[in-house]
Amino acid sequence: MDKSLKSTIDNQKNYFKSKKTYNVDFRIQKLKDLLNEIKSSEKEIELALFNDLGKSKGESYLTEIHFVYSEIKIALRNLKKWTKRKAVKSTLLNFPSSDYIIAEPYGNTLHISPWNYPFQLSIAPLIGAIAAGNTVLLKPSEYSEQTSQILNKILSSVFDKGHVDVVLGGPDISTKLLEFKWDYIFFTGSVSVGKIIAKAAATNLTPTTLELGGKNPCIVDETASIKVTAKRIVWGKFTNCGQTCIAPDFLIVNKKIKNDLIKELIAQIIKTYSDDVIKCEEYGRIISDKHMKYLNSLLKNEKILHGGKFDMNSKFFEPTIVEVENLDSKIMEDEIFGPILPIIEYSDFKEVDELVNKYSHPLALYIFTNRSEFGKKFLESHPFGGGAINDTVMHIANDRLPFGGVGQSGMGKYHGESTFDTFSHFKPYISKPLWIDPPLRYPPFKNKISFLKKILNLIS
Ligand code: NAD
Repeated sequence: MDKSLKSTIDNQKNYFKSKKTYNVDFRIQKLKDLLNEIKSSEKEIELALFNDLGKSKGESYLTEIHFVYSEIKIALRNLKKWTKRKAVKSTLLNFPSSDYIIAEPYGNTLHISPWNYPFQLSIAPLIGAIAAGNTVLLKPSEYSEQTSQILNKILSSVFDKGHVDVVLGGPDISTKLLEFKWDYIFFTGSVSVGKIIAKAAATNLTPTTLELGGKNPCIVDETASIKVTAKRIVWGKFTNCGQTCIAPDFLIVNKKIKNDLIKELIAQIIKTYSDDVIKCEEYGRIISDKHMKYLNSLLKNEKILHGGKFDMNSKFFEPTIVEVENLDSKIMEDEIFGPILPIIEYSDFKEVDELVNKYSHPLALYIFTNRSEFGKKFLESHPFGGGAINDTVMHIANDRLPFGGVGQSGMGKYHGESTFDTFSHFKPYISKPLWIDPPLRYPPFKNKISFLKKILNLIS
């Protein structure tokens, strides 16, 4: 085992054992300190996000910084309530007894985060972990290097290293970290790495949240209002250059409206990002050369209806629309995670079901339709992480909705109270007096069996 990591982790183990984090007022103070430190570092965070991903200030504020403020404020408003011991009704068999549930921290938690929303996806889980009284060791992504640096700076100025620490590096460091015994692992990233995390966690039976990805279908039926549909799809797909886990991956569009929708999608792309997108300040960049090459490889032999231009130097990749002619092509295999939008037409809705069911449970599913009952029935009868009727991505904007995947797209959920719940063990206990000890449950049962049955039937 790596010696310097061992001392980092031992420090956190000792910190948790000191029970300092059991004090709810202390947690509240730390969350307030975090909020203030982020507020005073806003400019540095925006600059780091711009340097890593070309994110504009507006996009960074909306999708990263504001999101984190809102999560901290929810925790601050509700923490006393969430941490309050809850009394529940007792049972006759236990009479007299007082029965309780308390939220107990798991202990030492490991967080591994990705590069696409590198600030938000590192801080949002941490807020819940701290609110619930845990320690956090964060390993942010090696790709979003500048944001990882600023995360390190913010967290080390707010927290003792025993409480929250940051370890920088790539898969080699993650692999070493996974050799240690953790009380909880929170991972956000790809399905393939998610499986590595799950295997490592299984060795110590460590509870785990896996926030993964997948191919998210977006269906547009013949009744959908074309203009607003195109606007909401273009926003959800091309924000952060399509590098969003819940962005629509591909469209399945009714044949009758396909051409109209394509025209409007192109019009919306131009309206949002201009017809010279490379100069548009609101449009981001692809994270690395490796990802640029992958995206480029997807366009080979495809029918490009719009876009397709790229520039390796500045990692610019134009918003691109592709008409899928072969469902077995590479573009329809794995998650695209970039600004390429494949379109598939259907004539009969049965084809939609077949196509959606062909893939494992997606992280998100979207349907655009003016038939609201039809939309509800469709979403309610298909498994997926989270989704929307007549919008994309925006279910993430409600902290009262748990966020997470199902099946291949992940396990566990967070946001708002769900994050606190994720990092808490809800521990039940009963409290009984010693001055009375009803004989009902003790043998011999011989002479009281019929009475026992009556009583038990009465209470069940
Ligand atoms: P990734 O799985 O390559 O990396 C994520 C983290 O895991 C990084 O910190 C990385 O250093 C670490 N890692 C990489 N290889 C590892 C290994 N072999 N062992 C241990 N750790 C390893 O993912 P990414 O490229 O950073 O992010 C993109 C993926 O994340 C996409 O699939 C996307 O859908 C998914 N994602 C999901 C969510 C969600 O909330 N469900 C959010 C954002 C991104």
